[in-house]
Amino acid sequence: MSASLGLFRLQQIDSQIDRVKARLNVIQKTLDNDKKVKDALTQFEQADSNNHLAMRQVKNAEAEANDLKIKIEQTESNLYSGNVRSPKELQDLQLEASSLKKHLVTLEERELEAMLSAESAEAEKEKAEKELNNVQEQAGNENKTLLEEKKQLTSQMESLAQERQAARTPVDSALLEIYEDLRKQKRGVAVAETDDDACAACGTNLTAALQQNARSQIKLAYCPSCGRILFAN
Ligand SMILES: [Zn+2]
Repeated sequence: MSASLGLFRLQQIDSQIDRVKARLNVIQKTLDNDKKVKDALTQFEQADSNNHLAMRQVKNAEAEANDLKIKIEQTESNLYSGNVRSPKELQDLQLEASSLKKHLVTLEERELEAMLSAESAEAEKEKAEKELNNVQEQAGNENKTLLEEKKQLTSQMESLAQERQAARTPVDSALLEIYEDLRKQKRGVAVAETDDDACAACGTNLTAALQQNARSQIKLAYCPSCGRILFAN
């Protein structure tokens, strides 16, 4: 049995553990900040508040126009009541009535504008609400799938931890120390298999002698390029 076999087995398990851990991190992040849902909710709240504002403006415009209509009626009923006889006063009343009517046209235009704005605000709100529902439904489904995956990965982690324990036990503690140090330096991969006469980690070609060394039962052989422990089958 080559000296690196035990470490190679350990490396295989550790790499698997690293992959599972990385995936679990991604899942947790996705579950934690569901940005799409947050964004859609903000959009909807904004549209909803715009809609309320627009409806209030319609009501205000309506009330203002109604007040003015009453004023116009009063002025005209005064004008035609027969109570006012003085030509000057009659003329003043006439002028006032026509000025009020002009103002009414402006108010009614404003009312119409407010109604059109309210309609588009209502449409925006409905659109935002639909989008929010879609996104929430999607996130719900996605989250369900992610939670399921998380459960599976967590139980996989438990069995990997047991496997690791079993693989670690027979390995010499000095070798284990070398392995752990290298793993820290080499982004998690301390042991590389020889593959088609090359180091599987960095691709460097290996001499026949080096490949023979990688099978040594006594000492470890290292890739001359990336410095990883070599394992030859
Ligand atoms: Zn290498």
